[in-house]
Amino acid sequence: MEHPVHTGVSYFGNRNPRHFLSDLAEMKSHHCNFIVHTFSENDQLFYKYTLAELIKLSKAAGLEVYVDPWGVLRIFGGEATSDFAFKNRDICQMLHTGETAPGACLNHPQAREFMFKWIDDAVEIGAEVLFWDEPHFFIDWTHKDTPHERWSCWCPRCQEKFKASRGVALPTFAQLTQSPELWDEFVRFREETIVEFLTALCDYAHGKGVRNAVCLLPHKERRYGVVEWSKVAAIPSLDIFGTDPYWIWFDKPVAEFVGDFAREVMQMARRFNKEPQIWIQNFKIPAGRENEIREAVAVAYAAGVRNFAAWSFYGTAYMSYIKPDDPQKIWDTLGEIYGQLARGEWK
Ligand SMILES: [Zn+2]
Repeated sequence: MEHPVHTGVSYFGNRNPRHFLSDLAEMKSHHCNFIVHTFSENDQLFYKYTLAELIKLSKAAGLEVYVDPWGVLRIFGGEATSDFAFKNRDICQMLHTGETAPGACLNHPQAREFMFKWIDDAVEIGAEVLFWDEPHFFIDWTHKDTPHERWSCWCPRCQEKFKASRGVALPTFAQLTQSPELWDEFVRFREETIVEFLTALCDYAHGKGVRNAVCLLPHKERRYGVVEWSKVAAIPSLDIFGTDPYWIWFDKPVAEFVGDFAREVMQMARRFNKEPQIWIQNFKIPAGRENEIREAVAVAYAAGVRNFAAWSFYGTAYMSYIKPDDPQKIWDTLGEIYGQLARGEWK
């Protein structure tokens, strides 16, 4: 089925409604019709009703509102830490090195309870869509060269669950490195964990009358947790299925990388009757490569995608970690594209 054109951006960093009003005007002039508000644990603790105010203003301006558990429990994507995990070390993931990760284990019931409370708050402040961004086992992106060399999880809950479902003990990391079969079983166990966790959250959210969008990391390698995308796409209470093929971040050619993942997303969306969504990189773009945004949208559009979102507002100029060289150019390029999409001029 043909979906209407959706053009969105994520928004974070500013919590002052006075300044938000001028940013909102920019989003309108750049033809956005939805906004993804990040709602981290820090926001939940200290800015809950400020977020409610920003969301009210967003809706008054005619934008649909997604709310994103930004870095919540360090299970979801986002440059934010987990207060709950720091305070409850016994619910955290255990790395193969024996270290306790600063993020909760998806198999701990308290992590699930925490997320239900997060959903209650997100719905209360006005969410229309919950954006389940990059659900994963712990990854330390600040270790840029080796973010994935920390494997998890060997916490008591995972040990128990593995034993109960497989009838054998969870292999040690040393055993995994010796056996491809054990690795495969370990990977399946992690994948099952992510799917069960997401299903519980999507069901709970549907029960509260909001829709669910999921964005999987653009990888199908075992170390990231979800190898078989169909297992996530098949979740009945999921509405929107997508990925974020950030070609410059992952150092890949734009048309091929975005195109391949857009076609994969389309295939899943058609098979399970979901709305397909593609995230477009709008951060850390070097000078001279801004037009690649246009190529990314073009290949995803050609694949059939009509729901586009950009990370983030105004080229993410306000986060030094991933700031691009020329945010104004990125933002204006995106605005032109969104205008063409909204007017039905994009062919
Ligand atoms: Zn665990």
